[in-house]
Amino acid sequence: MKHRKHAGRPPGRITILGGGAAGLAAGYYAASAGLDFTVLEAEESAGGMCRTRSCGDFRFDLGAHRFHDQDSRLTQEMKDLLGERLPVIEIGSQIYSEGRLIDFPLSPFNLIRNIGPLGAMNAGLHLISARLGGRGRDADNFERFAVHKYGRPIAKRFLLNYSEKLWGLPCGRLSLDVSGKRLKGLSLTTFLLEAFTSGRIKTRHLDGAFYYPEGGFGGIIDGLTGFIGPGRIRTDSRVTRVLHREGRVTAVELNGRETVETDRVISTLPLPLFISMMDPACPPQIASLAASLSYRSLILVMLMIDRESVTRSGTVYFPDPEFPFNRVSEPRNRSGRMSPAGKTSLLAEIPCGGKGAACPDDEAGAVRSVVDSLARIGWIREADVIGKRVERLEHAYPILETGHAVKVGRILKYLESFRNLRLIGRNSLFKYTHFHNMMRQGQAVIEEGFKAR
Ligand SMILES: Cc1cc2nc3c(=O)[nH]c(=O)nc-3n(C[C@H](O)[C@H](O)[C@H](O)COP(=O)(O)OP(=O)(O)OC[C@H]3O[C@@H](n4cnc5c(N)ncnc54)[C@H](O)[C@@H]3O)c2cc1C
Repeated sequence: MKHRKHAGRPPGRITILGGGAAGLAAGYYAASAGLDFTVLEAEESAGGMCRTRSCGDFRFDLGAHRFHDQDSRLTQEMKDLLGERLPVIEIGSQIYSEGRLIDFPLSPFNLIRNIGPLGAMNAGLHLISARLGGRGRDADNFERFAVHKYGRPIAKRFLLNYSEKLWGLPCGRLSLDVSGKRLKGLSLTTFLLEAFTSGRIKTRHLDGAFYYPEGGFGGIIDGLTGFIGPGRIRTDSRVTRVLHREGRVTAVELNGRETVETDRVISTLPLPLFISMMDPACPPQIASLAASLSYRSLILVMLMIDRESVTRSGTVYFPDPEFPFNRVSEPRNRSGRMSPAGKTSLLAEIPCGGKGAACPDDEAGAVRSVVDSLARIGWIREADVIGKRVERLEHAYPILETGHAVKVGRILKYLESFRNLRLIGRNSLFKYTHFHNMMRQGQAVIEEGFKAR
């Protein structure tokens, strides 16, 4: 196939591979620093998993998103970028378990109220015996860690079932890194404190407040792309090959037919994909390590509902295996602009694929299973559904199996030998990270300025 070369390229150009949150973060800080750069994005629009889709008068994020206020400087930057379009939303999340809604993250007092005194006593005894049985820091997989932290009954009912559904592996094979921040709160101390004060002393772990842009999380993406400006983000530009020579990436091939030379590269592409596109091919042991990493996908079922409201939750988590989805959110509870007046919508996330397994193709079946489940628990009637749409999100979660960190470390070490290449992003670094992490990584890679290694 004939390749077209770009002429007149100024020296020092940065090529950013992937226009999701991480690529746009790098672009945002590169634009702030007055650098010369291009973002190459495979899809017809930038934003990756942080986009918001319009379906007529309804709007849906690609999975329930929220902007976590974890870094005050970044939060201020995003507030400056979006102004009043980034309000704080106060809404809690729940777990739907055995017909009840229980606060999430788990709150001891609320939990005791919902599982009853006998259930609480049983859970308490298991928790104490788990604590006496060993040290949490010795736990080498998520199951051991969760059982140590909560005792088996609580861990099984609320965390292990949920995590198995989400990650597609038994929890004994999952790394501790899958917990993210979900396990904060229910320490033995907070448990006793809340229990003995009947909830008057309430622990401060119900993170029910977060920032959310009016009209969808994609508002942040619009803010970033607006700042970066036209002409610097090339959409419909899928990287198909990464050409390198003597420890430098020299060019990337786009859509299998065009070659773009480069001085410096920031990749946000999924790590195994990047490795598989390297030309010349990387050493076989690196290729086989990369090929052993995999990602979980999501089938997103978006239902438009002819009712004003269904839930009062930010997100409802469904750990029980009888439900095909792991969580359901009602976009209107985040922003009134997500659905037209008098109507609402629901977004169900069905995890699938990974570790060699493919996601089912049957979209109508996915919709049916969601509608049937929600009708069974009395949330909606089939006749309420006035519209539906199904989207697939690939590379939604890097599957954090025990031992993944060693593999990833070896691959990243190999890639560090390329002097003009840097990796950032959730799927590129194979880490369970969030939007604010993407922004910080983008800032660091630009500020670090590709100093010689
Ligand atoms: C269901 C769900 C809910 C989430 N909720 C939150 C939340 O509430 N708060 C939060 O902070 N974070 C949340 N996250 C995490 C957040 O979405 C990610 O951290 C973030 O989107 C990662 O950005 P990224 O750029 O690394 O990856 P991506 O968003 O995947 O971007 C990668 C980009 O590269 C492009 N690309 C892929 N291959 C090629 C190629 N060959 N050539 C060119 N381009 C290519 C893709 O099209 C994509 O645009 C959630 C994630 C999921 C899945």
